Amino acid sequence: MNKTVWEKLNEEQMKELMDFNEEYRQFLSRSKTERTFVINSVELLRKAGYRELSETEGALQAGDKVYVNNRGKNLCAFIIGKQDLTKGMNVLGAHIDSPRTDLKQKPVYESNGMVYLDTHYYGGIKKYQWVARPMALQGVVCKKDGTVIDISIGDNPGDPVFGFSDLLIHLSADQLQKPAAKVIEGEQLDLLCGSIPLKGEEKDPVKANLLKILKEKYDIEEDDFISAEIEAVPAGEARDYGFDSSMILGYGHDDKVCGYTSLRALIDSDIPEKTACCILSDKEEVGSMGNTGMQSRFFENVILEMLERNGQGTFRALNQVLSNSAMLSSDVSIAYDPNFPEVMEPRNSAYFGKGICFNKFTGRGGKGGSSDANAEYVARVRRVMEDSGITYQTCELGKVDAGGGGTIAYILANLNMDVIDAGICVQNMHAPFEVVSKADVYEAYRAYMAFVKDMD
Ligand code: MN
Ligand code: MN
Repeated sequence: MNKTVWEKLNEEQMKELMDFNEEYRQFLSRSKTERTFVINSVELLRKAGYRELSETEGALQAGDKVYVNNRGKNLCAFIIGKQDLTKGMNVLGAHIDSPRTDLKQKPVYESNGMVYLDTHYYGGIKKYQWVARPMALQGVVCKKDGTVIDISIGDNPGDPVFGFSDLLIHLSADQLQKPAAKVIEGEQLDLLCGSIPLKGEEKDPVKANLLKILKEKYDIEEDDFISAEIEAVPAGEARDYGFDSSMILGYGHDDKVCGYTSLRALIDSDIPEKTACCILSDKEEVGSMGNTGMQSRFFENVILEMLERNGQGTFRALNQVLSNSAMLSSDVSIAYDPNFPEVMEPRNSAYFGKGICFNKFTGRGGKGGSSDANAEYVARVRRVMEDSGITYQTCELGKVDAGGGGTIAYILANLNMDVIDAGICVQNMHAPFEVVSKADVYEAYRAYMAFVKDMD
């Protein structure tokens, strides 16, 4: 067995590892949605001297630091390198949306003296994991006059929380015989939100009382939910995990852990040879669709605009940039879990503490849907990692035919980029609380720094 990251660190590096992870833990706790992740990322970028591309003028020079915010849910940031942009970029990519439940457009209803907000889940979840636990509401309500009301209830001290109910064990004889996929069904994920009736109101008085509260506190009418995006996410902070605090338990490591480490690596990098880029994309958990997903033309449009600034704004130049670029498409991978050996293949699994992991391919059922990195490119990545003393491992997404998954890698590979899946392994993927090793978080950050600096 290879040594773990832990065994290779001296005292000073150990402190750096713990400090970096504490910054991540706090960032994750206040960045549960793609929108809050973008807001907090922009804050980090601006502190580091990055400016919105539209705030700058003229040709971009080596050392310039720019970003573009796409609709508050998708972000890309660049530090311009010494070489011409058409020589290609080194790209760090990750997604910042996470599985959750979203409020429906007509969510409010009263039943039996209680008022509920109806939801539709987002991404792949085991629904039974999301009941009987505190939930927070985060998102925006967009009003017809253009005002946007930020909603964040359940994560601040003194806030109330919300929740989906489960059936008491005493009456669960039938429920416990159901297959797990049916134990809690999608339409049962309705958030309990109140129980006091509005005095003097005959029809749905508890609903009327909730609407009164929403009007008074947030200036929201019932119809405003039509143009809202409100996510019900697990309430509470990410926490240190284990007696030795070697791990972090938190909501949304998939894939905010790769998003944060990629962004920090870009921010902490010196002027590179090749332009370095960090892409934080939305909608990966539902197929990367839409204008904020990785399939959007947004990223290509931004590069074309940068080329235009330099008098190179042609389709040919855009294709040169894309074809000459290298990417680490980072997404969480599966941490070996001794509780479930039946779906793991130990020689090709990722383990906590063994560093960043590389998946040459993802996919399911015979690598289906995977872009499968070229061996030549994998060799270049290995060289950069080993020259920089990065601890890394390789893995697959479980046993052959046990299941699988996909990432944004193929979308960039389709643009003719060299792309490999990389990332940090997690336990409990897509559960309300996922677990990562701090050693892997730190080592991924170091690996991204090395990639930006040395990939040629
Ligand atoms: Mn993911
Ligand atoms: Mn996922």
